[in-house]
Amino acid sequence: MSCDGGVTEKENASHSAKQTLLRPAYHRCMKTFMFLRVGVLCAALLMPRAWSQGLPELGDSSSTVFSPLFERRIGEQAMRDIRMYEPAFIDDPELTAYISRLGARLVSVSPDARQDFEFFFMRDPNINAFAMPGGFVGVNTGLVLASQTESEVASVLGHEVAHVTQRHIARNFGRMDQMSVVSIAAMVVAVLAAKGNSQVSQAAMTAASAGSLQAQINYTREFEREADRVGFNLLESAGFDVNAMPVFFERLQKAGRVYETGAPAYLRTHPLTIERISDMQNRIKESHYKQTQDGPDFHFVKARLRAELGRPQEAVAAFEEQLRERRFTSEPAAHYGLAFALNRAKQFARADSEINLVRKTVAFNPIVETLAARNKLEAGAVAEATEILRAASARLPAYRPLQYAMVDLLQASGQHAAAVNLLLEQVKNHPREIKLHSLLSKSYAALGKRLLSHQSLAETYYLQGALVPAQEQLQLALKAGDGDFYAMSRIDARLREVRQRMAEEKRQR
Ligand SMILES: [Zn+2]
Repeated sequence: MSCDGGVTEKENASHSAKQTLLRPAYHRCMKTFMFLRVGVLCAALLMPRAWSQGLPELGDSSSTVFSPLFERRIGEQAMRDIRMYEPAFIDDPELTAYISRLGARLVSVSPDARQDFEFFFMRDPNINAFAMPGGFVGVNTGLVLASQTESEVASVLGHEVAHVTQRHIARNFGRMDQMSVVSIAAMVVAVLAAKGNSQVSQAAMTAASAGSLQAQINYTREFEREADRVGFNLLESAGFDVNAMPVFFERLQKAGRVYETGAPAYLRTHPLTIERISDMQNRIKESHYKQTQDGPDFHFVKARLRAELGRPQEAVAAFEEQLRERRFTSEPAAHYGLAFALNRAKQFARADSEINLVRKTVAFNPIVETLAARNKLEAGAVAEATEILRAASARLPAYRPLQYAMVDLLQASGQHAAAVNLLLEQVKNHPREIKLHSLLSKSYAALGKRLLSHQSLAETYYLQGALVPAQEQLQLALKAGDGDFYAMSRIDARLREVRQRMAEEKRQR
């Protein structure tokens, strides 16, 4: 079953139902994203049989309602929707690689991490991070911009990772009484009924009932305390500065008093009680505190996020001022930020000299090299850009953002055959990476290879769980007329798989 199924009369309950239902999937006070609406439609499909057949089997154990596998599938579906529909989602290999590395450092020391984690950035000035079921953790760019050390970001990530490893979302459901779960199940059915109707009525269940359900879904203080405690241990074991959390929170609170809009989003979802702060301080006293140093990447990433804000000229001016008044925590990062902003302003020569300044002061860093290459490329120096990426890849062959940068370069300079070769090499090792298939489709299209282009696009959709468009693309591939017998049979086989999965989803419903 796809996400665009039939239409019935039971639409009016769907809007709130969708929001309320997905709420537990995200962290407590997440703003309501567009994708939530889409997300829950698909998430609802994954409800266990007991849910879709009416009253759920409950019992005390949350695992009967919300198994880890089920949690993961909800998270995966929400993630697909974020990728497809949420413009704030940042699909940038370098930024994703950074936040994934930081998150993985915390996860690697967790004795309770039994699943894969995926970390990603959202372009959102609100200082916040959120955990979804199944180990998907989103980090707003505002969080990094507001933090002064990597440990501060890590302290918030550790807390979110802890919500996941302690399975707070599932345990929240377990905690709810029978009535609430029945109401939610009823809403799931309503959502299923209204599924796919683009005209779904916005009029919805009364705010009051949605609100009261929401209240029961919120994390309890007990869970928040547990996330603080477990998060603290992760922070300490992973070698971050454990003082970062209270220091960061104190700064947020001050900021909250300054701004009329009130406390930053993270403090609204995580009110700082006196008890919470004293818990943190007690833990710090007991910990074996040692001074930690930020890796250079934190400062580069933060400078880049700053350089991407506002109009290019404004960003240039902001970094020029920082450097003039020496208001920076890392001088190389300030020069890198200026270079990034200058590149945006198309002042390629000046950007180049800033990059060279950075290279003189810090050890080789691929983040600097990708900017150097892009700057050369945009200035029209394709050969030099290629050489920069080749040299960097030779030093750090496992750093995949370099390969993505090379694909970018090849595509931008019209070298699509070479781009295809590089992408196919990547696909061998990462067959489920959506971005690779969509880039392949683009290069195949540029080369006039219609069958292969449709096939790659079908794969892109398929991996996103969008089965209907995947099927359409495969049918277009069959009609393309530029494939041999073997290519056609591969597409036939894939088409059968897609149809089988569609049938399975229909059965599940
Ligand atoms: Zn929390």
